[in-house]
Amino acid sequence: MPDDATGPELVPADRFGPPEDDMDRLWTPHRMVYIGGQDKPADSSVAQCPFCRIPGGDDADGLVVARGAECYVVLNLYPYNSAHLMVLPYRHVSDYPDLTPSETTELATLTQTAMQVVRQVYAPAGFNLGMNQGEVAGAGIAAHLHQHVVPRWLGDANFLPVVGRTKSLPELLADTRARLAAAWPAA
Ligand SMILES: [Zn+2]
Repeated sequence: MPDDATGPELVPADRFGPPEDDMDRLWTPHRMVYIGGQDKPADSSVAQCPFCRIPGGDDADGLVVARGAECYVVLNLYPYNSAHLMVLPYRHVSDYPDLTPSETTELATLTQTAMQVVRQVYAPAGFNLGMNQGEVAGAGIAAHLHQHVVPRWLGDANFLPVVGRTKSLPELLADTRARLAAAWPAA
């Protein structure tokens, strides 16, 4: 690049990191997904993995919203927002490139349906979609990949900490799960 280039400004290393705005304060999964680590697996084995255990139980108990052939959709137990869903493979796999082509396709398709269903039931203004790959990137359960589908409303970042700590949350989650499962299109 020539000295007089008008390209992007070079940013010093100490200024790296996310810009400071409401989004970033909200989108910090390592803070809220498993508060205090009480549900964090002791190790990365299948035996310790809640995402492997959940599909073996019934939908209401596990907060399962929908089941596909190779992936399923579940409510996050420690949501950022109402109807915070996760889409994940049944298979205990951590790295996104390790998904098979059919798992990749179903994960994407279920994510699309999740957005449609949440829109229909809760009418959010937008969504955050994404996967945290590795503990360093904020994955609460890094051993079993999961795609977050987080509906967003204007101003929602302000009341989240209050909602997240209320004792009535489990009932709200059960109610949310039932509403989303009822709205989910038949396969
Ligand atoms: Zn697992």
